[in-house]
Amino acid sequence: MAYDDDNIFAKILRGEIPCDRLYEDDHVLAFRDINPQTPTHVLVIPKGAYVSFDDFSESASSEEIAGFVRASGKIARDLGLVEPGYRILSNHGADAHQEVPHFHLHLFGGKNLGRMIKPQDK
Ligand code: 5GP
Repeated sequence: MAYDDDNIFAKILRGEIPCDRLYEDDHVLAFRDINPQTPTHVLVIPKGAYVSFDDFSESASSEEIAGFVRASGKIARDLGLVEPGYRILSNHGADAHQEVPHFHLHLFGGKNLGRMIKPQDK
């Protein structure tokens, strides 16, 4: 799947659409989800043009991958989520209902998140 330069996160990266920014460095931007599913719901995205985790894991440089993982952990620590706990999740493709075709990590926290997948939904 080719990268779509008009996706909403590409527009956020270009500054064409505002975001509630929490963190930024050379490789990473993190901002609050516009429709939060939990009290804390942050999106962590690479600045590079990667469609999803599949694309990022295959094509990103080691520096980008390491920077992304380090930044994600730091954001969770800075938000005070290490002691109470948090969940990270990334949707790839149709079965996962990925909506925005720019790789992103969801960082959820701020309440008891329950089981990962409800037993009846298996
Ligand atoms: P996905 O289903 O692709 O994993 O999740 C996309 C996420 O992007 C959703 O949680 C949605 O609320 C969020 N989102 C979509 N458009 C915007 C936007 O313009 N700004 C922000 N901050 N989040 C957005």
